[in-house]
Amino acid sequence: MLEVKGIDNGIVIDHIKAGDGLKVFNTLFGEGFKYPVVLLMNVCSKAMGKKDIIKVENTFDVDLDILGLIDENITVNIIKDGELSEKKKVALPEVMQGYITCKNPRCISHFDNYVDPTFKLYNKEKREFVCEFCDEITRFQ
Ligand SMILES: [Zn+2]
Repeated sequence: MLEVKGIDNGIVIDHIKAGDGLKVFNTLFGEGFKYPVVLLMNVCSKAMGKKDIIKVENTFDVDLDILGLIDENITVNIIKDGELSEKKKVALPEVMQGYITCKNPRCISHFDNYVDPTFKLYNKEKREFVCEFCDEITRFQ
């Protein structure tokens, strides 16, 4: 198996569904992200068969909401001095701002740049959110 050196201080985003790693990577680490980061894809996992993992060599505020939006099974491990110091669970957020765009083409949120649409969780199983402006049901893609 591919070996990657463990990190002493940083964050390991684990149990990402195989194939979703790049999406998580692109969502969390846009332009300007300055810490060393590796994306491991198709790593063998006892529980999942295959999974993706992201390791960041530095601590930063991970957006747990966006991770929950992508996949609630993702786990976030905070490593300090080479030891696991904290395990964070992610969950589908009840309220989400940003990342989701309304499906309704006539929704005001598409026309007014000042408007940042808020979406409320509508159906947890189907991962559907309702737009606060027009009540359209939208799923995060
Ligand atoms: Zn809308």
